[in-house]
Amino acid sequence: NATLAASDPAIAAQIDNEVARQHEGLEMIASENFVSRAVLEAAGTVFTNKYAEGYPGKRYYGGCEFADVVENIARDRAKQIFGADHANVQPHSGSQANAAAFMTLLTPGDTILGLDLAHGGHLTHGHKLNFSGKLYKVAGYQVRKDTEVVDYDALEEQAVREQPKMIIGGGSAYPRQFDFPRMRQIADKVGAYFLVDMAHFAGLVAGGAHPSPVPHAHVVTTTTHKTLRGPRSGLILCQQQFAAGIDRSVFPGQQGGPLMHIVAAKAVAFGEALQPEFATYAAQVVANAKVLAAELAEKGFRIISGGTDTHVILVDVFVRGMLGSEAEHALGEAGITVNKNAIPYDTNPPLKPSGIRIGTPALTTRGMKEAEMKLVAGWIVRALDHRNDEAELKKIRAEVLELAGKFPLYEYLHKA
Ligand code: PLP
Repeated sequence: NATLAASDPAIAAQIDNEVARQHEGLEMIASENFVSRAVLEAAGTVFTNKYAEGYPGKRYYGGCEFADVVENIARDRAKQIFGADHANVQPHSGSQANAAAFMTLLTPGDTILGLDLAHGGHLTHGHKLNFSGKLYKVAGYQVRKDTEVVDYDALEEQAVREQPKMIIGGGSAYPRQFDFPRMRQIADKVGAYFLVDMAHFAGLVAGGAHPSPVPHAHVVTTTTHKTLRGPRSGLILCQQQFAAGIDRSVFPGQQGGPLMHIVAAKAVAFGEALQPEFATYAAQVVANAKVLAAELAEKGFRIISGGTDTHVILVDVFVRGMLGSEAEHALGEAGITVNKNAIPYDTNPPLKPSGIRIGTPALTTRGMKEAEMKLVAGWIVRALDHRNDEAELKKIRAEVLELAGKFPLYEYLHKA
């Protein structure tokens, strides 16, 4: 019965450090967020001990009576949030959700048409080292060079030419909304399935701040830990005709036993997403991103596609004479966490790209609004302009810490 601190002080110390790091800095990685105390609590429970292969009422293990209740609640809440026919809450991650969805709709060797990684897509949409690139033939669509948004006429021509079995909407670094009705129309024209990976914007959809892909896509996959603000995990939603296939592809197709503690935490997070406050949060995430993008643009940075409709801002820093990697490092020194990111038609290599990706979900969860975004934009610009000036970066870090103190995070976990 020893506590973690007593039994493994080396790990306990790093967890304490991480609590402090998350509290003291400004988390602006677009794919990250802060779960509630309730979600964190559910994730750290004895359900981690339980094997529950199968589905509620049809398990391969005994003792699943409570796991069944939890999984049914999680499924019902997911369906209710998104208005979906069917939900599978067992995927361990977004990548596994995609693997299971692909397995359901495709046969190895089929062609998939997804947004190029270099234009904002995701590894699982066809990168050559990923299962998606190894098992399927990959045709990638791109954004237009002048507008930096998807050109649906070009996508239609490409779909007619490539005859994909599946068209994928969604990505990891695309700041605009996808045109779901148009994409479905293109898919129908060429006899392809339409899959939307809403990993990034699922929380915005849940909160009504973004159009829903659910009425348009045959299958929708997502992570649960980004804007949706649940534990690190995955979720698949689909129309009834694909329900049995999706369930079989998740288990036994891709996984063994579900992580029942994480399924419990997902249920809690889905419950939160059904509350009216979640809509307020989702609207604020987008409002904050719009203000931040406008402030950065006003201060001379080039915003990819000219702005954002979501929580993501892709900034060209190379036009201001630095690489994304240098920008990421300088901002890190100033207490602001972002990631370097390729921009469309990048002339620099992936590890030293021309841009950074910034997101507002985590700061919005902390309670920050437009006024704070203006402060943050000021610090970002100051840090980038003084990226080789350690003293100035330290000064910004102190100002960041002062603001962070006004929006406390996980106070009950802070060590004296
Ligand atoms: N799909 C998209 C669009 C993503 O952005 C991500 C994660 O970055 C994933 C899938 C994969 O999620 P995970 O990291 O949980 O495997």
